[in-house]
Amino acid sequence: MMQPIEIGVIGVGHIGRHHARICSELPQTKLVGVFDVDAQRCREVAELYRTEPFRSVEELVASCQAVTIATPTGTHFPVAAACLEAGCHVLVEKPIADQVEHARTLVLLAREKGRLLQVGHVERFNPAFQAMEPLLRAPRFIESHRLCPYPGRNTEIGVVFDLMIHDLEIVLHLVRAPVASIDAVGVAVLSPTEDIANARIRFVGGAVANLTCSRISPEKMRKIRIFQDDAYLSLNYGDQCGEIYRKKDGRIEREPIPIERDEPLRLQIASFIDCIRSQMRPVVDGGKGVAALDLAMQISDRIGEGMAVP
Ligand code: NAD
Repeated sequence: MMQPIEIGVIGVGHIGRHHARICSELPQTKLVGVFDVDAQRCREVAELYRTEPFRSVEELVASCQAVTIATPTGTHFPVAAACLEAGCHVLVEKPIADQVEHARTLVLLAREKGRLLQVGHVERFNPAFQAMEPLLRAPRFIESHRLCPYPGRNTEIGVVFDLMIHDLEIVLHLVRAPVASIDAVGVAVLSPTEDIANARIRFVGGAVANLTCSRISPEKMRKIRIFQDDAYLSLNYGDQCGEIYRKKDGRIEREPIPIERDEPLRLQIASFIDCIRSQMRPVVDGGKGVAALDLAMQISDRIGEGMAVP
């Protein structure tokens, strides 16, 4: 049996504590410790998952081969840079950074240090998405909805960077053509940044994506619908179920897509570890994280232009 990868988790808030739980459970990882600037939270999570609370990033990375980073977005760049500099492989939560320049610097640093840089675009590991992927061919129209109740966290960044970025990365992965034009609107309701946004992206070649996201919704929804020449596919990330509609003998036939449910975050971290061991490129590497952030920035700029109009 191979030695487990020694891993640390930095930032153990809402999502980071799940990183810590999974790293403590997976047979292919040994959770060396956790670090959080909130010392009490750091101790609590360390106790819960029977690991060490560390007092700084520097101390933690000195004992690790790899880290996962789930700190607020504005800190991804300095924290991830310090971890790469120290020679650790890095899985950083989405969005990769708060600025495209910072994100590109991380990609270069990872290359220079010969370390893996993966970005936490977790829906790519959602079993529902993975079951749908082999059925997809040249999508022509993509419609997605991502809604959730007001979180009270991460509102220093707009909902485009917080939620829509998941769908942007998926759309870039599916369409694989340059962006031709972007229309976007957004409204700040409870936060200093936009809480609701809609973007229509046209791609060279004719594909169109229409994405809606909101963090002011009574219900949760994470859905994508994809229309292509031979079929219409509908997928619910939350329930992990999906259907395909196809024309057969002049009639529309509807079939469920077989999906084996699992925890996307667990699959994401397991894939990160596999890539470290096999020296393979991560499923969502730094470059893909940069592309999603760059598109989010363009959408955010369009929204800003609209908001500036009295
Ligand atoms: P959170 O506020 O609940 O947790 C952040 C934690 O980081 C806190 O415990 C805070 O004390 C700690 N922290 C802050 N600065 C730090 C630093 N410099 N070093 C170490 N610890 C630090 O936020 P959250 O909702 O868990 O989000 C964290 C990140 O994860 C964000 O970038 C967010 O976009 C991302 N996220 C991703 C998903 C997903 O589905 N992939 C879901 C939620 C959040």
